[in-house]
Amino acid sequence: MTEPERDPHCLFCRIIAGELPALKILETASAIAIADINPQAPTHVLVIPRRHISGIAVVTPEDAATLAGIFDLANQVASARGLDQSGYRLVINQGPDAGQSVPHLHIHVLGGRPLQWPPG
Ligand code: 5GP
Ligand code: ZN
Repeated sequence: MTEPERDPHCLFCRIIAGELPALKILETASAIAIADINPQAPTHVLVIPRRHISGIAVVTPEDAATLAGIFDLANQVASARGLDQSGYRLVINQGPDAGQSVPHLHIHVLGGRPLQWPPG
């Protein structure tokens, strides 16, 4: 937990603070779920911890509760969208080769159509 709780220059921190708009799907005390602005599937929701963490690569065992919180909220989103039977994919991109474009940890919840494997 070496990073600040909030980075004033971070896009997702600013959305969480209400400084920038987003379509909120669900929220908990520790995380929010918003619609992705550029959806890649009928359901494409981003689940974001309220605390600023720059990516999955920097998490430590101290972040266990935060990680449990975002996976729980991701499953809540999938259930709310009726995806629990049809299936869905949770994606975390880390670094340039994975195409991470926002350096604040987030899970992509993708579903509502058959998803190809392997991913691109
Ligand atoms: P990454 O590429 O870091 O894994 O995922 C970042 C995601 O954030 C992308 O899917 C992108 O479409 C989404 N995104 C970028 N800017 C915004 C924004 O201002 N609002 C919302 N709701 N999503 C955004
Ligand atoms: Zn942030």
